[in-house]
Amino acid sequence: MALASPTLVRVSGLWYDDGNIVFQAESSLFRVSLGVLAAHSPIFDDLLKLPQSQDQEMYEDCPLMVLHDKAEDLANFLRAVYYCGFFEPPPSKTTIDIVAGVLRLSTKYEVSYLRQHALRHLDTLMCNTLQDFDALKSKKTIQSTESFSFFIADLVHEMDLPWLLPPFLYNCTLNIKKVAMGHTYRGEERCMNSSQQLACVKALQPLEKWYKGDILGFLYWTDVDGCESPAQCDEGRLKLACSSFDAHHCALVPFSGLIGENVRDFVCTTCCTASRDAHSAARDALWEALPGLFGLPPWETLRALREHALTSSDASSEMEPIKTTTRPEIEDESEPPLSLFH
Ligand SMILES: [Zn+2]
Repeated sequence: MALASPTLVRVSGLWYDDGNIVFQAESSLFRVSLGVLAAHSPIFDDLLKLPQSQDQEMYEDCPLMVLHDKAEDLANFLRAVYYCGFFEPPPSKTTIDIVAGVLRLSTKYEVSYLRQHALRHLDTLMCNTLQDFDALKSKKTIQSTESFSFFIADLVHEMDLPWLLPPFLYNCTLNIKKVAMGHTYRGEERCMNSSQQLACVKALQPLEKWYKGDILGFLYWTDVDGCESPAQCDEGRLKLACSSFDAHHCALVPFSGLIGENVRDFVCTTCCTASRDAHSAARDALWEALPGLFGLPPWETLRALREHALTSSDASSEMEPIKTTTRPEIEDESEPPLSLFH
């Protein structure tokens, strides 16, 4: 039975006249080689081996299969399979939409090497140590977008990648209005899942307490051992304390970013050094406590989960990717007849 619908659109670059299956996702059509996909995916390999059904739905002369995937995700996934350079591992750059689409469908269709690439890109956003956090700008391969932390929090929840959560949930708490009221991504209104909303709200008060009590504790010192000018330093600390350190926005900011290089204008060298050391220790302690503030397992457990995900993807990715730059592999005519999911 031919399917006729004026709303269906063939996706440019993913419509091969010699393809032997047509996938429909939303209103998009993709004509590709099932053999190429089967070479990477045990799911498609099983599909290839099934006997053809009598009432197979067709699109023109080609078997049609409707997939319940987002068209954008499927397009990015198929481009990653077919096009060299479209989705290379880090340090190549990519976008969060491509990573999300490839991660979803490489997980669903068990294409290990693409899932591995996606996880490695997300890993460039990963900071399970404070040093990673500080070095993040130089290593990340995915550009930030609007509501980026909220997008990642959603993706992490959907794909069960909890080791990425602490820094992103922390970032979400910096915009509690979006936590409570939702955010916009590419024009679409979205809302965090309720468990993450609750985790962010519960973390707010401890974060504030940690920030004002520990991170900024040095601003309220008096009688510092070895201080060269106690009266001036006390006055300097008072001025700094009266500066605007809103909410907990600067809780994880390094000392130089928090106070600025002009701290020596306010306190003596001894006080400056002691303040920097105390701030650094408090910041380290907050970082270690961060997962627990969101009800997550400790860093040690999260690091082990990450390690397992990356190495298990590696271990199951035994096959080298087969890619074409212009067209799919030509299928062997002796292949078993096509059949489709029902
Ligand atoms: Zn001093």
